[in-house]
Amino acid sequence: MRNKLIVANWKMNFTVSEALKFIAGLPREAKMELEDAEVVICPPFTALYALDEAIEGIPFQLGAQNMHWEESGPFTGEISPLFLKEMNIKYVILGHSERRQHFQETDSTINKKLALALQQKLIPIVCIGETVSDHKEGQTFEVLEGQIKKILDGQLKADLGSLVWAYEPIWAIGTGKNASPEQSQEVAQWMRKLIAKILDAPTAESMRILYGGSVSEEKARGFLKQPDIDGLLVGGASLDPKKFADIIMSAAPAQ
Ligand code: PEP
Repeated sequence: MRNKLIVANWKMNFTVSEALKFIAGLPREAKMELEDAEVVICPPFTALYALDEAIEGIPFQLGAQNMHWEESGPFTGEISPLFLKEMNIKYVILGHSERRQHFQETDSTINKKLALALQQKLIPIVCIGETVSDHKEGQTFEVLEGQIKKILDGQLKADLGSLVWAYEPIWAIGTGKNASPEQSQEVAQWMRKLIAKILDAPTAESMRILYGGSVSEEKARGFLKQPDIDGLLVGGASLDPKKFADIIMSAAPAQ
């Protein structure tokens, strides 16, 4: 059975003191253990250490927003997965569309990052998604298939069951527009079938697939009800403790 996963992507927001204030300001019920659901906060690198201490006793995990594909070397400004491992970081987001857009990341660099993340036993949250023009031209499935195949190329199948995919239509990120829950289900179900063909059915079944793109506290439950949507990657709404708490609570079983 796949646990639900709610991931906050804070992007380039929050100083250390603001990050601590966020945790302190989260309503109590959002900091309690959830049945069959996990919460991951991905802050800027600079806040990871302080947050690791601040979440002691709160069942949250920490994730990084990026990492390099090498363990060490002359890569000024980059972060090695070894640094993350030593800090207790469990998850890492790879290939977010903002990194593809502003930092020239490609499926091929994401492929290298994925191989090292898996080797280091970090749980990768791999982002894929189509642009607005792909969407309008009906190219969504073709584009996603290309991304998935390139990212999975040459990976060791035995390691891939823990992989988390984030389906994030680029036209929905930070725009207030969403794919509908039904559209996201259609894509997630199709992804699982494709991955079963490329790898095998048990691996495809064990991978979690998140939806991301302008998720709000009102809309979260609609996505989480879909059988192939295993959670949410949340940007803007994860910066507000009240809104994020409501999103976390939507992953709790209905009373
Ligand atoms: C994201 O950054 O991954 C994201 C989904 O952002 P937002 O929720 O703001 O659209």
